[in-house]
Amino acid sequence: MEIDDITEFVREVYQTNDFIPLHEPKFVGNEKNYIIETIDSTYVSSVGKFVDEFEQKIQEYTGSTAAVATVNGTAGLHVSLKLAGVDEGDLVITQALTFVATCNAIKYVGADPIFCDVSEASLGLCPSSVEEFLKQHADVDAKGCYYRKTGQRITALLPVHTFGHPVELDELMGLSKDWSIPLIEDAAESLGSLYKDRHTGTVGDYGVISFNGNKIITTGGGGVLLSQTEVSGSHAKHLTTTAKVPHAYEYFHDELAFNYRMPNINAALGCAQLENLDEFIEKKRKIAGLYNDFFEGTEFEFVQEPTYSRSNYWLNAILCPDRDSRETLLKRTNDSGVMTRPAWKLMTSLPMYSKSIRSSLHKSKKIEETLVNLPSSVI
Ligand SMILES: *Cc1c(COP(=O)(O)O)cnc(C)c1O
Repeated sequence: MEIDDITEFVREVYQTNDFIPLHEPKFVGNEKNYIIETIDSTYVSSVGKFVDEFEQKIQEYTGSTAAVATVNGTAGLHVSLKLAGVDEGDLVITQALTFVATCNAIKYVGADPIFCDVSEASLGLCPSSVEEFLKQHADVDAKGCYYRKTGQRITALLPVHTFGHPVELDELMGLSKDWSIPLIEDAAESLGSLYKDRHTGTVGDYGVISFNGNKIITTGGGGVLLSQTEVSGSHAKHLTTTAKVPHAYEYFHDELAFNYRMPNINAALGCAQLENLDEFIEKKRKIAGLYNDFFEGTEFEFVQEPTYSRSNYWLNAILCPDRDSRETLLKRTNDSGVMTRPAWKLMTSLPMYSKSIRSSLHKSKKIEETLVNLPSSVI
């Protein structure tokens, strides 16, 4: 297949000869109305009806026990790690193939990542890689799980639903239980994706969704922390709102906490976007279907949703036969105004994480070298 055939196909899908971005937000509903409403009400900041409504709608949509809106997904990850009990000096198992925010949040609580491999089917954390690592390097007792070599506690598993594709949650939850390690889902990219029949972000102890401008729906900047007990839900709200003890006029804060609450004006945008979410997912799945048919029988392998899941297909991706053909594809498509991107560099190649503990990252490396993301905006 010629690269120009791919460019031409993307132009056909998006019906334009102009520049085609990787992913752009769509504002086709009540966005302007709701934002004007917040301005007219003067409640643009951390108090207001939209932020409460947004949380309630996300909670209902995902079937989560609790949902707490945050300023961004990274803040949601930070707080969820705190809630899970991750402390200074601890270790957190995650994947090297992810956006840097996943690992930064681990560092914010003073912990360090352990990188395990990803599975080819999901592009997310591979249960057998994690199990092998734990069996070789960790012990578990009544007080928790320990990394044998240093005695550090391993206090969270943090898989990522890469590009919207759900990881193998049953297997990872099994490990979470057997090894007494809480599981947090980085569902930043996977709003609306289903693992079996459950929403991603609601299967683990905690889950975090992002509403950054490049995600499937946006609040400008924003996130939501999902948790599966009422108690942890209220603690999440407390930790994201400076731990102020409710009182008519006094300021008393009972622990060190954060100013992480999503502003009402951002939530207004989110409420409008949510009204179109199901339609966006349908359209994205249609685009994925077109790519899938187009690449069938070629040397490029289209990344399909794992068999046990229904993906939101946030970002479409293909695997090229090798690194050279990947480079050619990136150069040719970008030169002709069709935006494509490689996968993230593995976290182990960033200076902050170059010395982190890791298992064999064979599959992660292969994906890093050959994956290309294709334009995926809702049409
Ligand atoms: C977007 C993203 C985040 C961070 O979300 P922000 O809202 O941008 O802070 C975290 N993890 C992954 C995998 C992401 O794609």
